[in-house]
Amino acid sequence: MAKVYICSKCGTAVTKDSTPSGWGCPHGGSHDWYPVCSNCSTHPGGGRDVYQCSKCGVVVYSDSSPMATNCSSGGSHLWSRL
Ligand SMILES: [Zn+2]
Ligand SMILES: [Zn+2]
Repeated sequence: MAKVYICSKCGTAVTKDSTPSGWGCPHGGSHDWYPVCSNCSTHPGGGRDVYQCSKCGVVVYSDSSPMATNCSSGGSHLWSRL
């Protein structure tokens, strides 16, 4: 079941079944991945609804609201349903 992982340092979002490789964060060192949802995707059609974080701008397609943990813009993601 695909999950969306977002790096709390650089804000990169990837869709994977398990934690992605940490190597090569553009902000230095390794990516610091956090899963924000399960059964969701960064690609259209990956979920019923579209959510965007109003702080870092990342877009997630998910059946339910993603978790707020560790926004790359600081603090928690602030998801709004588009
Ligand atoms: Zn990163
Ligand atoms: Zn965010």
